[in-house]
Amino acid sequence: MARGFFNVPKAVNEPVKGYAPGSPEREELLAMYKTMFNSNTDVPMHINGAEVRTGNTKNITPPHDHKHVVGQYHTADKKHVDEAISTALAAREAWSSVSWTERASIFLKAASLLSGPYRARMNAATMIGQSKNVYQAEIDAACETIDFFRFNVEYMTDLFKDQPISSEGVWNRVEYRPLEGFVYAISPFNFTAIAANLPAAAALMGNVVVWKPSDHQAYSAQVIVELLKEAGLPDGVINVVYGDPVMISDTVLASPDFSGLHFTGSTHVFKELWKQIGNNIHTYKTYPRIVGETGGKDFIWVHNSSNPLQVATAMIRGAFEYQGQKCSAASRSYIPASLWPEVKKYLIAQASELKMGSPEDTSNFVNAVIHEGSFDKIASFIDAAKKDTDVEIIIGGNHDKSVGYFIEPTVIVSTSPKYATMTTELFGPVMTVYVYEDADWEACLQLVDETTEYGLTGAIFSKDRYIVEKASKALENAAGNFYINDKPSGAVVGQQPFGGARASGTNDKAGSAQNLLRWASVRLIKETFVTPVDFKYPFMG
Ligand code: NAD
Repeated sequence: MARGFFNVPKAVNEPVKGYAPGSPEREELLAMYKTMFNSNTDVPMHINGAEVRTGNTKNITPPHDHKHVVGQYHTADKKHVDEAISTALAAREAWSSVSWTERASIFLKAASLLSGPYRARMNAATMIGQSKNVYQAEIDAACETIDFFRFNVEYMTDLFKDQPISSEGVWNRVEYRPLEGFVYAISPFNFTAIAANLPAAAALMGNVVVWKPSDHQAYSAQVIVELLKEAGLPDGVINVVYGDPVMISDTVLASPDFSGLHFTGSTHVFKELWKQIGNNIHTYKTYPRIVGETGGKDFIWVHNSSNPLQVATAMIRGAFEYQGQKCSAASRSYIPASLWPEVKKYLIAQASELKMGSPEDTSNFVNAVIHEGSFDKIASFIDAAKKDTDVEIIIGGNHDKSVGYFIEPTVIVSTSPKYATMTTELFGPVMTVYVYEDADWEACLQLVDETTEYGLTGAIFSKDRYIVEKASKALENAAGNFYINDKPSGAVVGQQPFGGARASGTNDKAGSAQNLLRWASVRLIKETFVTPVDFKYPFMG
């Protein structure tokens, strides 16, 4: 019970460590990588705080060295999913009524533990299990996770402060109740921070959670669970199950107590889940909250008033960091004909310096794509492009899965703006360029807007403010995160709340008060101090 209007520590973004040669953080991280890479980790499920091992295991293999096994994770039968639901519900009474300061304290402590003693292990797990280089692991697994925890605590208290006015003799107040039931969190492979935030945001607001991480993120998911346990998260608040996503979702979504979905992943899966929730709507005790951040086909549109070197740099970073496996990764660019020769020259020069390989070798900018299914999909589009007459591959085009799932950063130039790689989310290191006539810049903006079903991120480049204003208006609905003279990726919690609309999601902005509000059901309380005793109003006199 809080006895005071407590202020929480002011949230600031976690400083990104540099990992320069000779730095202590680099030595610690690379030593941790080596130890973890050469040991075997057994990843259990977590139900009611207990480690659950079913013996039905799947191997964990680094995408950049897929014959090497670093551990295994245990998968659920239906009865484990039922147990996860019932233990979450059993934990609800205590968790939903504990003072918000206790919940805040747990996540603030988790942030501090991750900033210190857990940092190297979380980053190393992400490097090994998801094939991220040191920097990509640091900005995601360490910094963004810490930022989510700290900023969400601040946003929660900001929400709590949002109260209605009261009139004479009346006290109006609202309380931010957790949802009645449990929240189902389903996370993708590509960001450790998103995996941590999906269950944590709901739990911070007092909800109990069943969390299904991606099979391809199980290694760092285990570190998240250990971190939250050490920070004091009580048993049963977040229950973790792995395995067949269809069976798990069928079981969860059939529960009358299902009260919210916190999803990040592909558009198709989200739409299917939404449909299933709709079909089950008569089963539920309350209308479930549905929050989903989904796919993208993110653009860079360039006006001829731009600097070609800046454009090429944004294209390289935007398209190839983390092998293009960011939902915000740029994958289609529109370049004016007059600027193209110079942009192309810089692209080729910069791409020639991109090294690819294991994240253990820190000189590698590019690592492996996540799994064989993803590799085969991306490779098939590249191979088709090699044969198609209306496209030309000007950079990369090679791929090799003998040791790891390596796809060379690839730039395709297409004479057709609706070519397959201009419209399909490949989720790999492939950028397609469409060169337009300078005079057609306005028509090109319309093309950018209409080419895909998505609306996640996009960038425009121009030095001309009239053009910037016109492009911003023309692309008003084409991106939920819109960048001017910068790459369209790299959103930072607290600075660029993230999310898109159209087929890219419900745009509830991860890492914002808006998102937290989805995990609360507001109760208005009106208290009258002198209660009327006569039903008649003056006008009746
Ligand atoms: P995915 O859709 O394959 O998987 C996401 C999660 O859904 C995983 O946990 C997976 O096991 C589960 N899942 C898969 N099939 C399911 C089913 N039939 N029923 C229930 N759950 C199911 O996505 P991914 O490959 O892990 O991640 C990449 C996708 O996520 C891309 O489309 C990317 O754009 C998107 N993404 C979007 C954002 C965003 O903020 N908009 C952020 C990260 C990733």
